[in-house]
Amino acid sequence: MQLSRRDFLQLTANAGAGTAIGGLVGLGVTLAPAMARAQELRIKDAKTTPSVCPFCSVGCATLIHTVNGKIVNIEGDPRSPHSEGTLCPKGAAIYQLHMNPNRATKVLHRKPGATDWEVVELEWAMDRVAELIKKTRDDSFIEKLPNEKLVNMTPALFALGGATLDGEFNHVCQKFWRGLGVVAIENQARI
Ligand code: SF4
Repeated sequence: MQLSRRDFLQLTANAGAGTAIGGLVGLGVTLAPAMARAQELRIKDAKTTPSVCPFCSVGCATLIHTVNGKIVNIEGDPRSPHSEGTLCPKGAAIYQLHMNPNRATKVLHRKPGATDWEVVELEWAMDRVAELIKKTRDDSFIEKLPNEKLVNMTPALFALGGATLDGEFNHVCQKFWRGLGVVAIENQARI
């Protein structure tokens, strides 16, 4: 494709207002072949491992590409009978769940009244959470209502799950919470 000086200036303006890619698309340049080629090169020598999206019980199949044990790409598996290689926006972002510089890798704790966070050991944090759950449950447990109806519950705890918990883990979680007498159980992830 020939670019005139005017086209080039327009492209630069578009890139400034949005992105360089946006500018190229604005000029009618189709990037599909280049993007397909870049993707092909990225996974050229990669090992492919079939897997399943962890985010919900739809269970769309994925292909995980690794080079020297490091994930370089995750995409839908076209052999999946129900999703046929497609992934919803959550599933399409699985790669970022694994490879993300913003991912928290340490446990942070802010003491009551403190303004700063401290890095703490995971073991200590787990014990602290367990200790507070036990104390809260013991302090708030209701065995029977005033009318003698047996309820065995606590209204002082609630459980909130997020999109990165898969269907199986949520199943185990709700069993755990119900076993403690927690009745307020909610999850953001649902179809
Ligand atoms: S979160 Fe999306 S991609 Fe993942 S299993 Fe559910 S529907 Fe499929």
